[in-house]
Amino acid sequence: MSLPPDLNKPIFRINPSMADKVMDGKCVTCSAYIPDVPFRNSLSEKEYGISGMCQTCQDSVFGHDPEAEECWAELDATVDEGDWE
Ligand SMILES: [Zn+2]
Repeated sequence: MSLPPDLNKPIFRINPSMADKVMDGKCVTCSAYIPDVPFRNSLSEKEYGISGMCQTCQDSVFGHDPEAEECWAELDATVDEGDWE
């Protein structure tokens, strides 16, 4: 289960329509319904929690680099969630 971004962030006060989309469970950039666009991995889910972007928009913004992704997948597998704090 992916967590939506924190609506207390300044960006959502600057742009309230983005906050509306988050509350509706939609991507802040393309308005796709988030459950309709599965996240590729836990990194993408975390990114959604930061930016509010669906997988499609994350790919268009960050690019889709399979090698980098493998690297992250390994990190994900070895690093405990709590260690990121
Ligand atoms: Zn999107």
